[in-house]
Amino acid sequence: MCTLADENCMMNSWDDAFRHSKGVEQQQKTGFFNHNFQMEKHNFVTIADLSKEKIMYLIDMASEFEKHPNRELLKGKVVATLFYEPSTRTRLSFETAANRLGARVIGFSDAKASSVSKGETLKDTILMVSNYADVIAMRHSLEGAAQYASEVAPVPIINAGDGAHQHPSQTMLDLYSIYKTQGTLENLNIYLVGDLKYGRTVHSLIMAMRHFNPTFHFVAPKELAMPNEYKIYCREHDIKFQEHTAFNEKVIADADIIYMTRVQKERFSDLMEYERVKNVYILRNDMLGNVKENMRILHPLPRVNEIAYDVDDNPHAYYIQQAQNGLYAREAIFSYCLGITLDDIRADKTIIG
Ligand code: ASP
Ligand code: ASP
Repeated sequence: MCTLADENCMMNSWDDAFRHSKGVEQQQKTGFFNHNFQMEKHNFVTIADLSKEKIMYLIDMASEFEKHPNRELLKGKVVATLFYEPSTRTRLSFETAANRLGARVIGFSDAKASSVSKGETLKDTILMVSNYADVIAMRHSLEGAAQYASEVAPVPIINAGDGAHQHPSQTMLDLYSIYKTQGTLENLNIYLVGDLKYGRTVHSLIMAMRHFNPTFHFVAPKELAMPNEYKIYCREHDIKFQEHTAFNEKVIADADIIYMTRVQKERFSDLMEYERVKNVYILRNDMLGNVKENMRILHPLPRVNEIAYDVDDNPHAYYIQQAQNGLYAREAIFSYCLGITLDDIRADKTIIG
């Protein structure tokens, strides 16, 4: 696992680089020109920054995009996707969102094939790409990498996942999926199941749901239990939660949402431990006989073993539609970052087809 603590040394040098860049910026501000014409940029780095109103606003935007996903709203814009850590689905989803809005896409899907392998720092890469692109979506294995990038970049940064920390665009599509299937985000019983230790999507979801009075159920074996910092977060924000180690029909009977997660093999330092826990919870069709009518099963994908294939045809399964909602949520995120408003989207005349 790559954590901030493990990478202190690297972060220190990032910090030095950052302080230096601030100094330069300061000099520029006090120089001959002080036009102050820079457009306000919206980063999308952590879900913790988003108010309830902003979340609902982004959901409204996503639903406009669901009605008409193909437009030329971002015509002339260049979107960069920098994936230091591999991901197929998230990258494809961002790139599809950009393409369907008429933007052009640059970037890399494998840091090994970029100058990073020659030793270029994150800061240099971000500053260089900022010369070319209007917005950058990035995934990195280090917690805090996107935050750091947002502090040095002149263009908006979208966090497409940083280590085991956050995955806020996934959270937007999760919220949109929950809203669509439940008709509300308020007062729901949400079961988070599986790898709650390393699964960044559940960490972001908890933070986002703080506005909506949820009751969480954390279902995980001891080794993969919800980290203390998130339990403290829940207590500080009056979020109700219960912890379970058993996963069966009885436990899930009052669920509105069951959010299954993959055991995050790539974050284990000891693969023997991974082998021990990898198949610990499997959701099977025969466990769904007594669930609530409105209950829906979510999964951020990719699935490994945690949902049996016989669940796919059950009307409670929603994970494939959930991934499709990722397109609309990411169209909304690009718009938000580039200063396009809900009114602009509603008045948009560039719809195609
Ligand atoms: N479901 C994820 C997403 O759309 C897929 C991935 O991260 O690979 O963000
Ligand atoms: N696609 C999600 C993520 O990138 C979930 C996963 O990989 O299991 O965090």
